[in-house]
Amino acid sequence: MTKTVRQTWVAAQAELTSNLDLDPSEARLEAQLLLQSTLKVNRAWLLAHESNALQANNHADFQALLMRRLTGEPMAYILGHREFYGLDLLVTSDTLIPRPDTETLVEVALSKIPQSGTSPSAASQNPSFRRKSESSGVEQYSQTTLDSDFRRNDGMSVLDLGTGTGAIALAIAKNRPEVFVTAADVSLGALEVAKKNAANLGIMNIEFVLSHWFENLNNDNNVRAIFASEKFDVIVSNPPYIEKNDIHLTQGDLRFEPISALASGEDGLDDIRQIINNCLIHLKPQGWLMLEHGYNQATLVADLMAETGLTCVTTIKDLGGNDRVTIAKNPLIVSTHWD
Ligand code: GLN
Repeated sequence: MTKTVRQTWVAAQAELTSNLDLDPSEARLEAQLLLQSTLKVNRAWLLAHESNALQANNHADFQALLMRRLTGEPMAYILGHREFYGLDLLVTSDTLIPRPDTETLVEVALSKIPQSGTSPSAASQNPSFRRKSESSGVEQYSQTTLDSDFRRNDGMSVLDLGTGTGAIALAIAKNRPEVFVTAADVSLGALEVAKKNAANLGIMNIEFVLSHWFENLNNDNNVRAIFASEKFDVIVSNPPYIEKNDIHLTQGDLRFEPISALASGEDGLDDIRQIINNCLIHLKPQGWLMLEHGYNQATLVADLMAETGLTCVTTIKDLGGNDRVTIAKNPLIVSTHWD
């Protein structure tokens, strides 16, 4: 028997409530979102047409989405997008699903980057300055070459390590148009998603680099690499930080997300250690390193930062009141650049 739009979501709500242990209002919202996705309509249309009969082909398509959800697949992967810091982002199984907690990292980064985004040391009067995107619409997506002239001549530079969907990098780039953001990831699949997000959002002050943490961020492969390495005013990252045997990895949404974006060795700190140990040669004098971490890792991360010589170590809580982001500054006042 043909169901109406409303009957369809009510039936799905019941299944989602019992199978996934969701509360009924959450289950209703998910059922409605799956139906909106099937019918390619917005919420207002769905509610205004709740008495319409659902066509057989639409019903079949909806059932396919519902089945995926009933097996536990995250909503963001089924719908193919997720909102983060006011940006609608494409999301695929190549990427971690952006979380509200990570908006804390964006807030902290923006708090250290002035609205003008101009670095105190930048030669911003340089008449030869042109945005990469003005000189070429293609090069901005280059994955291996870095336009160091751009950074030397312009405002502040930000590096996002392990960018995934590009969520953090794009939120910063969007809110600070004068800043140039380099977004790195070791996963080509993730970079493809991040690039599409930049294009969809019309964000041009960003480039994408295929790199395992800092590995490909040197301009130069010779002995001067340490001096010629890319330097940034702010380095942000939401690296994997879950203990590799944490039971949560086998539960809920996490089962479907890339394990390489979630787990990091016995204590969850393997990648954070790598980033902290290598950050100093990539930070400009007085530049900030800002890392998201687990709710119980603040002291460990702060100690690692202090041990490596960073200063002004500070932890910031997320909206849930958990320690979530720890930041620290390069104490150097004078550049070690050779050029
Ligand atoms: N905050 C995520 C979680 O606990 C983990 C994200 C990460 O490892 N970077 O679900």
